[in-house]
Amino acid sequence: MILADPPVTDTVRNAWTTLAIHRRGDLNLCDGCYELACGFSWYPCRKARCAQRALVEAGVDIC
Ligand SMILES: [Zn+2]
Repeated sequence: MILADPPVTDTVRNAWTTLAIHRRGDLNLCDGCYELACGFSWYPCRKARCAQRALVEAGVDIC
């Protein structure tokens, strides 16, 4: 993934960080939830969805 525009606000920066951790893994499970808490969540997990929503609200194109 190439980030054309650097994150500007804390909200955007945090959201990017969250999405970097909570990423799609094997079997469509979230790698971040497994690594951080040994938990299993389908991707996008709740944290990833929150981060994606935050980026959309901030006007950041996440595609
Ligand atoms: Zn997750």
